[in-house]
Amino acid sequence: MNNKVLVEISARHVHLTDEHLEVLFGEGHQLHNLKELSQPGQYATEERVTLKGPKGEMSRVIVLGPTRPATQVEISATDARALGVKADVRMSGDIANTGGMTLVGPAGSIELNEGVIVAKRHIHLSDEDAKQFELEDQEVVNVKIETEQRSLIFDDVVVRVNPNFRAAMHIDTDEGNAAGIAGSTQGIIIKK
Ligand SMILES: [Zn+2]
Repeated sequence: MNNKVLVEISARHVHLTDEHLEVLFGEGHQLHNLKELSQPGQYATEERVTLKGPKGEMSRVIVLGPTRPATQVEISATDARALGVKADVRMSGDIANTGGMTLVGPAGSIELNEGVIVAKRHIHLSDEDAKQFELEDQEVVNVKIETEQRSLIFDDVVVRVNPNFRAAMHIDTDEGNAAGIAGSTQGIIIKK
């Protein structure tokens, strides 16, 4: 049985509302699609912002498209420490009572009250993938990563099933570094 999934490392990035896009980049500004991402409809843009916290800032952070109903900043735990901001481990979209920070763009800045998260590691699967893997939406699995020097098994990996998804596991840069991932890597899904 095929139990392997492509592992993709998400670098720090920002999702913006239409309103915040205009504040940061100017009235009527539209995102410029630079490159399609693995999940259909999601894309990297040419737009960049600066993240500001009490202890530091990070410039040229990529904005992902399309715009969303809520602005969300996804950073690693290492980034959160360097910026001096609170960043809970959450699934994307689950931002109630999370930390905030300042976002700066070429036309203005925003004081975010919430929306800063460390994305909880997860696997995207289409309905057909889920059937093949014998997994359900919200199921929690282990994923084994085999690399030269730092092989490890990630626990607490949440499966997300949607007809529009394409099979991929998403982890952040801390997790990718912990597993010594360089280049294209497959993870082995282990049912719990
Ligand atoms: Zn994802």
